[in-house]
Amino acid sequence: MTEKLYYADSHLDSMEAVVLRCEEAENRFAVILDRTVFFPEGGGQPADTGTIDGIRVTDVQEQDGLIRHMLTDPVAVGSQVIGRLDWGRRFSCMQNHSGEHIVSGLVHSRFGYSNVGFHMGSEAITMDFNGAITAEELREIELQANRTVTANLRITAAFPEPDELASMEYRSKIEIDGPVRIVTIPGIDRCACCAPHVSCTGEIGIIKITGSERYKGGTRVSMLCGFRALKDYDKRSGQIAALSVRLSSKPDYVTEAVERLMAEMEVLKEKKDHLQRELYACKAENETAGRKNVLAIETDLTPAEIRFLANAYMERLEGTAAVFSGNEQQGYQYVIGSGNLDCRELGKSCNSALNGRGGGAAQMVQGSVKAGREKIEQWFADAVQDRHMSE
Ligand SMILES: [Zn+2]
Repeated sequence: MTEKLYYADSHLDSMEAVVLRCEEAENRFAVILDRTVFFPEGGGQPADTGTIDGIRVTDVQEQDGLIRHMLTDPVAVGSQVIGRLDWGRRFSCMQNHSGEHIVSGLVHSRFGYSNVGFHMGSEAITMDFNGAITAEELREIELQANRTVTANLRITAAFPEPDELASMEYRSKIEIDGPVRIVTIPGIDRCACCAPHVSCTGEIGIIKITGSERYKGGTRVSMLCGFRALKDYDKRSGQIAALSVRLSSKPDYVTEAVERLMAEMEVLKEKKDHLQRELYACKAENETAGRKNVLAIETDLTPAEIRFLANAYMERLEGTAAVFSGNEQQGYQYVIGSGNLDCRELGKSCNSALNGRGGGAAQMVQGSVKAGREKIEQWFADAVQDRHMSE
């Protein structure tokens, strides 16, 4: 069995060890040492990274009490090597994992819910509780968790004897072979866990719940602790600073500035709609003079604008108005209105001639076609203008 130095001292960031085995496996070298500071993946905490004699350790896994370090290059069996952890990363994992125990312990003692899914990714940390927790309750838990941090409680780990364990209350109580490691935060949490933790709750730093959502009948809670929370705070304040510059407002007032901007946009939109209706009325007046039917092919109208323009024509025409808007690549959307023809018939002929779809009522139809400008003009001449001439 590899001696697990991280159990004796979770703050050991390097070690000397003897190479017992080195085997090539999948373009890597699986190295077994007599002792290690490298924590293998387990209990929701990712494997440590670092170097052994300057060679990258890309993964660490435990199998039957042996810890396999996956290296990019081989080391000589029997030689003495020096292993160094990526300490910042390991410490951040411990801050977040210990923080998770505090939050899960508080949730368990208050609601009786269990953490049934703990995930520690490179950025986000999530916990899945098997019961509903409101945002307000989570704020209370967060405050309590941070009070636990400032109380600077000692975190201990031990392997109790089987009979002691049997009568002990702790989270994650499942039948496992061999000794069970119990991590205790006095008065807050007791949980079976194989991972290294910080020594005192004060080392965790801030515990920040960053979000929650309903998940499989329970609650998924996202959280950041310590330096990860600081990094997140830094990112968010940077975003607000950038927004406040763009909005010419103080950082504390960006919400009000955005609300003001949205209100201004609403007023501008109303003004634009009003001007557009006037413009369409003028356009319709010019284009309908002395005519019975009108075809308009535009390029960038919204569906509402197409309807506005078709209505403006219809108010001045006895015959048919057809408004198309779009382009040759994506096709056109259309509205057809008529005072003397059944638009449902016109719609059908339009759809079949121009590879389109759509429908509506006798007075007006709308839809879209996959055809070019020339085809549209040809259809209108055939279906509307010639028909009037032959009447
Ligand atoms: Zn744990």
